[in-house]
Amino acid sequence: MPEAPKNRGNGAGLGVEGGILDDKNIRALEFIEDVTMNAKEVQMQVLSEIITRNSNVEYLQRHGLNGRVDADTFKKIVPVVTYEDMLPDIERIANGDMSPILCSKPISEFLTSSGTSGGERKLMPTIEEELGRRSLLYSLLMPVMNQSVPGLDEGKGMYFLFVKSEAKTPGGLMARPVLTSYYKSSYFRDRPYDPYTNYTSPNETILCPDSYQSMYSQLLCGLCQNKEVLRVGAVFASGFIRAIRFLEKHWVLLCKDIRAGTLDSQINDPSVREAVKRILKPNPELADFIEAECRRESWEGIITRLWPNTKYIDVIVTGTMSQYIPTLDYYSNGLPLVCTMYASSECYFGLNLNPLCKPSEVSYTLIPTMAYFEFLPVNRKNGFTNVSESAPLNEKEHQELVDLVDVKLGQEYELVVTTYAGLYRYRVGDILCVAGFKNKAPQFKFICRKNVALSIDSDKTDEFELQNAVKNAADHLLQFDASVTEYTSYADTSTIPGHYVLYWEIGLSGATPIPPSVFEDCCLIMEESLNSVYRQGRASDKSIGPLEIRIVEGGTFDKLMDYALSQGASINQYKTPRCVKYAPIIELLNSRVVSNYFSPKCPKWVAGHKQWCT
Ligand code: AMP
Repeated sequence: MPEAPKNRGNGAGLGVEGGILDDKNIRALEFIEDVTMNAKEVQMQVLSEIITRNSNVEYLQRHGLNGRVDADTFKKIVPVVTYEDMLPDIERIANGDMSPILCSKPISEFLTSSGTSGGERKLMPTIEEELGRRSLLYSLLMPVMNQSVPGLDEGKGMYFLFVKSEAKTPGGLMARPVLTSYYKSSYFRDRPYDPYTNYTSPNETILCPDSYQSMYSQLLCGLCQNKEVLRVGAVFASGFIRAIRFLEKHWVLLCKDIRAGTLDSQINDPSVREAVKRILKPNPELADFIEAECRRESWEGIITRLWPNTKYIDVIVTGTMSQYIPTLDYYSNGLPLVCTMYASSECYFGLNLNPLCKPSEVSYTLIPTMAYFEFLPVNRKNGFTNVSESAPLNEKEHQELVDLVDVKLGQEYELVVTTYAGLYRYRVGDILCVAGFKNKAPQFKFICRKNVALSIDSDKTDEFELQNAVKNAADHLLQFDASVTEYTSYADTSTIPGHYVLYWEIGLSGATPIPPSVFEDCCLIMEESLNSVYRQGRASDKSIGPLEIRIVEGGTFDKLMDYALSQGASINQYKTPRCVKYAPIIELLNSRVVSNYFSPKCPKWVAGHKQWCT
């Protein structure tokens, strides 16, 4: 198998400079060349390694692998599964069963996915060595970027990175998001000096669990070093926009600190104070400049004004995040938006080898060493796919599964992974389309995640959850002899943070008018009914705004149907869409709104699964 590029400057105090950096870039690009050229062989080797190591784990024994380690037997015997199929095994591990159920190596922690099951975050088992694989993928990003934008080693990156809350499973394993796990690991904290991971945010500000202090201190450090910043970013577009919004709210305080070289007393985490003080020096000139820019009525181009040497914004704007492209363009005067990688809690998948391309053209090359990848062909029609939503797949579907090197250009597939950490033929839930090839390795456009109706940040709410939430809230109207006769929803990102909007048409047989407070209660009931990731976004991360109900006048949904029919929908098959995105439809709905209500407070949320807290 091609050797992963090794960082020769790995010893304590050894930096990556000049020739060493060039050398490192070359080795990273050679690695990509190697693994994509030999994609088939690498994939077979990865699969063989995973099965050989784990041939005796309970899961594979149960499916009758009986120590056989060849790919054909594996594919014949091991079923393609969803999270729900794995849940009993995952719960045993979470409850403290240490026997090798899924993986021969000890499960080091659970990564909490933003996908949900039964309203709770999914728990993805992981092993210590996976950190190395993630770190490898990160190490390839800048050498690729350097080909399109050289000179990035001469300045810094201003990235807004955050840790989120952690919980312990009843068995004592940590459960936390994959990025929190990575930032807290020695791979990130103790990284040797490297101009490519030279950020304006000191580690202490990133690792601060208080989101206000973390954001404030990262912005302050970014502003203090504004001339050095060559690239800015966050993981997702929503996170970056949140930082700009924070600046809009707090620039007066930030300027006060920059002017005097003092740090606001609300920042009381001693390690953050210590780290910021190393950077912050009194600078009235800079404070005047920032103040003058922020005072201007328009914030158009604020990023290029405050950080004038910025060459691009590094954020994911593929998938649901594409809704933020116009806002980012506005704040940045159209700087390139760069999507570098495609990853999940289950596994890090791949990277974009043409980072300066337009967001609509982004495709990701899956790196064949990360996991064993299979692909289930899908044909979407009217938003539905031809494959069974849940496993087991039927015999025909099973036979249709293809290997990485056998996918066809232009065809859409659902991604299925077998990982070193103990997921076997696991359906990730993402639909990808083959857009091209890098050597023998396909490049995929991210099309969508299956079953996601609404998303603002990392929340992913499906139609079933939405339906349940509407039902719970609508029950509250029964006392007024009223019911929700039709509804649809919309992710409104014109507010910062964005929020869910529900359009309700009401049937009222009673004579008593419904007081506004009842609709406000309905908003909150819906929020309480939504999944844990949504409630965390509302209550803890503040990345989602209060849910809004807009009451539309009677007959609005008939008008919606008329519109769909005029656009060619079939009357027999017409179903009210439970989520709308198309601007003319949203305009139609908005033009018929008679009143609107917001959730009066945040829904309840606790870290960890509900059942762990009882
Ligand atoms: P999580 O497991 O919470 O980390 O979420 C992983 C999911 O986020 C993936 O399965 C995708 O649905 C989505 N995702 C990750 N990276 C990208 C990307 N570059 N573009 C679009 N969606 C992405």
